[in-house]
Amino acid sequence: MSKIAGMVQCPSCGLYIGRAAVGGHCPECGTALDRAERSKQKCVLLADSSSKIRGKISTIVKQLGCRIVEAVNSNEALHLATVSKPDLVILEASMPDDDGIGALHELRHTVRLGNTPVIMLTAKADLQTVSRALQNQVSDYILNCPNRRDQETPLTASGAQ
Ligand SMILES: [Zn+2]
Repeated sequence: MSKIAGMVQCPSCGLYIGRAAVGGHCPECGTALDRAERSKQKCVLLADSSSKIRGKISTIVKQLGCRIVEAVNSNEALHLATVSKPDLVILEASMPDDDGIGALHELRHTVRLGNTPVIMLTAKADLQTVSRALQNQVSDYILNCPNRRDQETPLTASGAQ
């Protein structure tokens, strides 16, 4: 952790944070600034091309006391997964560079990441997409339907309780 007078740098995202301003966590990614606390923290990797969706989910993840690593496409998600070794991966099923299921398949065949729980986040509920996700041992499947107010309910149900 680098030091600037009165500031600490987040070891995860690099943000400089005023010591007095935070309750021990990076406001950007939720990482605990205390090393001992950080080692106990769960890490969630979120890959979604929509900054709006990422913003909503990361708020919930940080409220749960986890730190969050965000990716905007499958390639970045796979790279960050090997670097951050997440405890949970949330993958959008239709990212610009991939259908997300390709990334899920890659994760399942990556050493030390093969058993990581993966939740697919998607607006697609067609049988083919769902069965391909299930074939690749998806842990859960959340329908993210635009214009529906209850879209956050499933995440809370599977993640928080
Ligand atoms: Zn941070």
